[in-house]
Amino acid sequence: MPHVAKVAPLDDDLIAFHEQTLDFVANEVVPHGDQWEVDGFVPRDVLQRMGALGMFGLRVPEALGGLGLGPLASLTFAEALGSSTYAGFDVTVLVHTDMALPHLLNSGSDDQIARYLPDVLAGERILSIGVTEPDAGSDVAGIRTRAEKDGDGWRINGSKMFITNAVHGDMTIIAARTNPDDRYGISMFLVEKGTEGFSVAKALDKTGWRSSDTAELHLDDVWVDDAQLLGTVHRGFYETMRNFQNERLVLVGMGIGAAQRALDITVEYTSERQAFGGRLFDLGAIRQRLAMLQAQVDAARASMYHCAWLAENGTEPVREVSGLKAWACEMINEVMYDCVQFHGGMGYMRETAVERMSRDARILPIGGGATEVLLEEVAKRMGNP
Ligand SMILES: Cc1cc2nc3c(=O)[nH]c(=O)nc-3n(C[C@H](O)[C@H](O)[C@H](O)COP(=O)(O)OP(=O)(O)OC[C@H]3O[C@@H](n4cnc5c(N)ncnc54)[C@H](O)[C@@H]3O)c2cc1C
Repeated sequence: MPHVAKVAPLDDDLIAFHEQTLDFVANEVVPHGDQWEVDGFVPRDVLQRMGALGMFGLRVPEALGGLGLGPLASLTFAEALGSSTYAGFDVTVLVHTDMALPHLLNSGSDDQIARYLPDVLAGERILSIGVTEPDAGSDVAGIRTRAEKDGDGWRINGSKMFITNAVHGDMTIIAARTNPDDRYGISMFLVEKGTEGFSVAKALDKTGWRSSDTAELHLDDVWVDDAQLLGTVHRGFYETMRNFQNERLVLVGMGIGAAQRALDITVEYTSERQAFGGRLFDLGAIRQRLAMLQAQVDAARASMYHCAWLAENGTEPVREVSGLKAWACEMINEVMYDCVQFHGGMGYMRETAVERMSRDARILPIGGGATEVLLEEVAKRMGNP
């Protein structure tokens, strides 16, 4: 029985979808993950198969060819992906489906959706979202990339940093300043790979998420026509903020899927490993610690589905999501640390899944809103005078 089977707001259809995703992960991801870690990216044919199975259209209205589901579905998906033990694969998919695609769905014109969505759903066009810059990450309003009106379009200059899916993907949603007099005067643009002046300056070498590709991008006098402006001019900052809640929830979702898998692997390992005349798992220090971590993973899982349920029912749970992302991503790292610890020397070997998972988890408290930034969001909403 999957762990989500006990989660209150999930119906049979969502649990079945979760199980279908677990099967896909077990059959199509796990056997190849080590090779993708070496290659530094997930092969396109795998993403196309996911597209063919409808996995990229969970949140897309049925009228547009998707399944018309909500945040609960995104989390069952993210948690199942997280069980892969290859978070680089997980994030490749979730940036496409839950971090970049929502911008197109929420802000795209009918023409933009008609032009791009079918290929996005089929995995033929992989998306990335380019907000972070070398000099602005947490402070989104501090970006320096500029877009200036030029004829029937916009001329964009600047650079973007740490952009997932930007080496092997096909189109980046770029945030650029369009109103220099307003700190929040930012707009979003659809910039296709191959547009003149738009280039990968560097494919970045990372601690973890090694099967995900990450790029530094340069925009050197890139010209795009008016049809590539996504959403309302100067409103991109607010449109980006709107999508942050979903982005943070799926990061927690994949992290909880991974933490659960790491605990399962470690319970199995310590149950087989003999020391001092018995099983490691029977040592009080180990079983009690693993039990405490399981309790925390269960609590985080319940909280994330509760947040998704609130979002699905029309509440914007900013305090709850911010606090959950801050706490759970730190806690997931504690899980990984202890799972490595209880594997002993094997936990430090590259051949062990928990070794990779501990490296992968380190980015969770930094990316998509650093812990300190999110705790400020909670503090602002604590009702203090
Ligand atoms: C592997 C990877 C993939 C990524 N993918 C993408 C992507 O696809 N698209 C994209 O746009 N970005 C992406 N990012 C960027 C990521 O979201 C940023 O790294 C993150 O927002 C932090 O920004 P920064 O690195 O500039 O750190 P800074 O903003 O320079 O912050 C550094 C540290 O200072 C502390 N800090 C910052 N602000 C505050 C504050 N207000 N109060 C207290 N402490 C604070 C935090 O500890 C923070 O970690 C990715 C990053 C990585 C590493």
